[in-house]
Amino acid sequence: MFTLIKTEGAARRGVLHTVHGDIQTPFFMNVATAAAIKGAVSCMDLRELKTRVALCNTYHLHLRPGSEIVYKMGGLHKFMNWDKPILTDSGGFQVFSLSKLRKIKEEGVYFASHIDGKRLFIGPEESMQIQSRLGSTIAMAFDECVENPAPEDYVRSSVERTTRWLARCKEEMARLNSLPETLNRDQLLFAINQGGTYDKIRIEHMKIIREMELDGYAVGGLAVGEPTEVMYHILDEVIPYAPVDKPRYLMGVGTPSNIIEGVYRGVDMFDCVMPSRNARHATIFTWRGILHATNERYKDDPRPMDTECDCPACRNFSRAYIRHLFKAGEQLAGRLAVIHNLYFYNTLMDRICEALDNGAFTEFRNKYSPLLAEKITDD
Ligand SMILES: [Zn+2]
Repeated sequence: MFTLIKTEGAARRGVLHTVHGDIQTPFFMNVATAAAIKGAVSCMDLRELKTRVALCNTYHLHLRPGSEIVYKMGGLHKFMNWDKPILTDSGGFQVFSLSKLRKIKEEGVYFASHIDGKRLFIGPEESMQIQSRLGSTIAMAFDECVENPAPEDYVRSSVERTTRWLARCKEEMARLNSLPETLNRDQLLFAINQGGTYDKIRIEHMKIIREMELDGYAVGGLAVGEPTEVMYHILDEVIPYAPVDKPRYLMGVGTPSNIIEGVYRGVDMFDCVMPSRNARHATIFTWRGILHATNERYKDDPRPMDTECDCPACRNFSRAYIRHLFKAGEQLAGRLAVIHNLYFYNTLMDRICEALDNGAFTEFRNKYSPLLAEKITDD
């Protein structure tokens, strides 16, 4: 299912084989929360933006329109018209971050919808059933994402419950994949490593879940408020215990620099709302650093947002025009900025893959990890 082609230090170049096609790794998933990229970008655009994988949120789709509707429409791939791989999260993260009145029990989580307050329940089995009806390529195990920092005792008991939930997820997924009415009977299931900022709990957990033989391994519960250095430290500690022959996914990360640093530490997969969310607030990622599109000095600048980019927005429009659109409150501003930022992230992954192919990733990291985090102030 996963072919490791090449390594450079801990960094890995590989291919993930799925029923919806092969994916070159490392890759970045473009977040389409409710089966749409925020900023009015559709799957018609994603084809042009070199998107390898789309990520959809189970919690959102469960509340609206409901997984039964998506199933009836032939699954997420048909519903949103995307034939490449789709990863769905478990719903757990949003249950913990968005919903009100949540109550965690051994069987799962009782919560109230953030939309209409309706009382709902999701446990490991329900999460698998919802993701199976959505028919995604990769499903994620249902876990508790603990906020950082959290007391060690709480983190330990939470992680133990997450492990028990993983066993239930695996069993339920095997049952669903054996049913004739299941949309994608080759649906993959990834485990999620938790443990907050406690190295020991993280490592113990990874050792236990790697024996449980899942299709891939995610590191969750990072980029939730802890300093970047803490995140890198956790990766340094825990990734060496992840299986070599399975893909590794760092959830919810991050900036271009975070991604380069994640690859450097042996991560193969990433996702983040950052390119689309920041774009909607006029923050543009470029090959020379971070540009703020509404800056006064761009009011009569004929150059594209990124002079080194050949995305549809940079091929067609000037900084002066994009700035004007933001200032005038035109929805097109957000759309063009999202198109650019996603293309930038997807091109970043192409260039990381290329650097790894050529044995030049170390050089790439030394140049771009600091450069891409800089704010452009003079150009
Ligand atoms: Zn561009």
